Amino acid sequence: MIIQTPAIALHIRPWSQTSHMVTWLTPGHGRIVTAVKGACRPKSAFLGQYDLFYTCDLLFYRREHDGVHAIRACSPIDLREPLRSRWRHAVAAGYLCDLTARVVPGQQESAALFSLLSQTLDRLAHGSETDDLRGLLLWHEAHLLRLLGLLPDLATCPQCHLPERIWLRFSLPSGRLSCPHLAKSQPGEASLSLHRAVRDLFLSLRDAPCYEAASTAVQLQKKAPGVNLLLGLSRFLGMFMVFHLEVPSAVRRVAWEMLDTTPTQKPA
Ligand SMILES: [Zn+2]
Repeated sequence: MIIQTPAIALHIRPWSQTSHMVTWLTPGHGRIVTAVKGACRPKSAFLGQYDLFYTCDLLFYRREHDGVHAIRACSPIDLREPLRSRWRHAVAAGYLCDLTARVVPGQQESAALFSLLSQTLDRLAHGSETDDLRGLLLWHEAHLLRLLGLLPDLATCPQCHLPERIWLRFSLPSGRLSCPHLAKSQPGEASLSLHRAVRDLFLSLRDAPCYEAASTAVQLQKKAPGVNLLLGLSRFLGMFMVFHLEVPSAVRRVAWEMLDTTPTQKPA
């Protein structure tokens, strides 16, 4: 069956001397991989038709079972050209495309995930150069987790989490705040401390339908004295994603370090 769809190029790997394996995100079929034979030959019809972060109009022959599909034609719809010169923004885009390729299932309807990634890549390419990229990544990750059905549950318990308690205990396996009045945590259970202000920042990112709506919260947090709430939230979400999505921590850590222009602040 031949299928025509918009598709975002997530990964391009060399395959043989002149060919590529391209991983795409599509709204109707989730993550798919196509082989592009002869992609690097001088007269290839595919030259310049796709690159990382492009949204393309893709035509491919669909295989029934998850595997490598054959590409028929491809042409760019949106090149997101500024990402070729904004290096920090390209680092952020590269991290998000890699994460998407790892966690989005193949051959499944993924229109909301496609829309989320399109929105963030557009923001990285065309938004203000002074956007806080770390805030944007955290906003994106919160919404990715929501769409995957894996949001951490940060609801507090009136008995265990009194307002004067600044540090909360979060249980990684149960994905929620530890609640001693309901159950003692298991010995050796993976858990971490979460600052109440980091929790509040996460909730405001989670509830913001677009980054525009979240950026005020991010700006406010940056002014909070003494502690770096963005870094605190990044550590929390990083550990949460490693635990629940089984993604490697190194890719995210390196991307984050390259984006962090204030490394001297103390994490919350
Ligand atoms: Zn409780």
